[in-house]
Amino acid sequence: MSDTIKNRYQQLLDELARQESIAGRLPGSVHLLAVSKTHGPEKIREAWQAGARQFGENYVQEALDKISVLSEPGTDTPDIVWHFIGPIQSNKTRDIAEHFDWVHSVDRLKIARRLNEQRPADMPPLNICVQVNLSHEDSKSGVDINDVDALCQQIAEQMPRLKIRGLMAIPAPSTEYEIQRQTFHPLKVLFDKLRVRYPDMDTLSMGMSDDYPAAIAEGATMIRIGTAIFGHRERPA
Ligand SMILES: *Cc1c(COP(=O)(O)O)cnc(C)c1O
Repeated sequence: MSDTIKNRYQQLLDELARQESIAGRLPGSVHLLAVSKTHGPEKIREAWQAGARQFGENYVQEALDKISVLSEPGTDTPDIVWHFIGPIQSNKTRDIAEHFDWVHSVDRLKIARRLNEQRPADMPPLNICVQVNLSHEDSKSGVDINDVDALCQQIAEQMPRLKIRGLMAIPAPSTEYEIQRQTFHPLKVLFDKLRVRYPDMDTLSMGMSDDYPAAIAEGATMIRIGTAIFGHRERPA
């Protein structure tokens, strides 16, 4: 099979189904987010033609350019669901609140408040995942695992324009399956504990091209895949 986005996407769907089955998960219980950062609208359209509908972006200005091209009147891609998954600067929250359907990288109260205030009244509430720091590295963004509940509670009680859908993490990379699983595990435990209290919580966003089988085994409901769909990125991201 030739190495096209369409073929890679199809192969990934097959592998996703296989991993669901190995892990004893229900078919279709893991959703695929196509991470399109650094790739242009033509490539996004190719993935769309292969069946992808949910796309993840990391850089606000780059994403806004693509969203505008792909939602022009007459284009066949108005049904794309856009997820913001990158670090959030507070001066970018308005653009995010106005143009995205989901944000996976909420990691502090100030950002949540701004997104809540800036989400336009004529749009549905913004879907939010709280990003959790699993690796205890100062350099990684994310809320300390012990502070996640408090942030979720403030969002749920004070921010009607946000809908708290789940948790997200980007662990420090490891090439070992068992270590990957051990790293993801505490997030699943926290997710199961919190979802009892927050009724909209249904999303555990974890797993990328190099560790998604371990994430599926540990209960991920959404994996975020860039390289395995689009190939290697030409510039670092
Ligand atoms: C780039 C990125 C991904 C996808 O990574 P790949 O290894 O290319 O699959 C997933 N999540 C986040 C937050 C990213 O920045």
